Amino acid sequence: MDILMVASEMVPFAKTGGLADVVGQLPKELENLGHHLGIVLPYYRMVKEGGFETEHVNPEFVTTLSDKAVQGEILRASLAEHITVWLIKNDHYYDRDGLYGSEKGDYEDNAERFTFFCRATLELIKTMGLKPDIIHCHDWQAGLIPVYLKTLLKRDPSFATVRTVFTIHNLAYQGVFPKADMPLTGLPWEAFTPEGIEFYGKLNLLKGGIVYADAVTTVSRTYSQEIQTKEFGCGLEGVVQSRKEDLYGILNGADYTEWDPEKDRFIRKNYGKTTYLSGKKDCKRSLLEEFGLELEEDAPLFGLVSRLAHQKGIDLVAEAADEISRCGGLVILGKGDEKYERLALELRDKYHGKVGVRVAFDEPLAHEITAGSDFFLIPSRYEPCGLNAIYSLKYGTIPIVRATGGLDDIIIPFDPESGSGNGFKFHNLSKEAILSAIREATRVYEEKDPQKRLLQSAMKCDYSWEKPAREYEKLYLKTLSEDRRL
Ligand code: ADP
Repeated sequence: MDILMVASEMVPFAKTGGLADVVGQLPKELENLGHHLGIVLPYYRMVKEGGFETEHVNPEFVTTLSDKAVQGEILRASLAEHITVWLIKNDHYYDRDGLYGSEKGDYEDNAERFTFFCRATLELIKTMGLKPDIIHCHDWQAGLIPVYLKTLLKRDPSFATVRTVFTIHNLAYQGVFPKADMPLTGLPWEAFTPEGIEFYGKLNLLKGGIVYADAVTTVSRTYSQEIQTKEFGCGLEGVVQSRKEDLYGILNGADYTEWDPEKDRFIRKNYGKTTYLSGKKDCKRSLLEEFGLELEEDAPLFGLVSRLAHQKGIDLVAEAADEISRCGGLVILGKGDEKYERLALELRDKYHGKVGVRVAFDEPLAHEITAGSDFFLIPSRYEPCGLNAIYSLKYGTIPIVRATGGLDDIIIPFDPESGSGNGFKFHNLSKEAILSAIREATRVYEEKDPQKRLLQSAMKCDYSWEKPAREYEKLYLKTLSEDRRL
């Protein structure tokens, strides 16, 4: 199959979260299965300055937004040497410090920036003569593509056999814009209805993807069920339910060429299942030094790497910090909402020497924390997948998670008797619940035998991309076999 992925971020070019990991990794695995892949991405400043090899491939193209003709260019780069990455260039839209916004908030012209991205992708397919069987669109930034294909372009022969798959990486980020932005899209007003992309009088790009794609996926089985409920549906539960026959939950995988303590280029000492004890000790020591923390030799160290958003539950960690700092230490790496950045820094000041905080987006440090901590905290209110749980297992860094979304699928509670399970989880969003999981975890940590069994069980968990890639392959084939043109 010929598969074109369209997304607003991808490692190693541009990343703010898990979406980038998925878009940088899944294509490689699909190529291993014998498919032909391409990826479309905006040419951000971050990409421009990232030192990637790029070439101009064709003359400028023009697309229309409202009545305005907007020019763009196409550049080409590559991922893993032979996967083409098409970069959509328009400096006015993408040559900025952030991907979606600045400290002041989201960029005000995001509707225009990503409408342009979707239209430019369709121009790219035509001008470069691409013949994708599947266009796999990710999140709201690519949500208009399925809409165009089922409306404006439904009789366009260039797209007659194309099918779309739309993946929701986080239902809470929907790309909602005022009705006044509708003309930008060039879509007919008939699409601006509750059955289309209208959402309480506004334009909702994520909804567009969900309604018009041939198949919809999200990044874990549990999250695919949760988003059909009022509690997790962010107002779109009815829309998601209406697609439930075509909705699939496919858990993300891990790129073990990047996230493996035996090969990790960012950590103090590489280690594997048999060299765990000495390797981890060195990584932990180096991490403690980096944050200026002092801990007893065998006191547990808790790590947290996260976007600092309400979703991620750092306030719950703050409530547990008293007890954590009495029994061990805590390191936090995060960036995001000012309110939570401030909360993290307050913890650092309050528990001086026991809590270390870095407010930054720092890839190497994320690896060091994953390797050097004993436990990894993920107390999310909701979590579509929870890649950090998958990564930390491989490092023998035991996840303590809230049982929600992908985290609930990944973590099986440890049973010291049988030695089965790979971590600890709690259900309620309360101080008592997180503390009870932390206490259970530290009890196991104190006893040599159960601790060893837990580590063995965690480190042998295999979440490589092969299985999910095969599930996507099956879904693409199914979608292609069905007649879905309107
Ligand atoms: P989300 O996509 O909601 O942010 P995930 O857990 O699925 O959550 O993926 C987050 C990814 O981003 C992981 O690879 C994690 O290590 C990385 N990450 C998050 N915050 C930071 C940070 N401050 N510095 C470095 N990496 C980070």
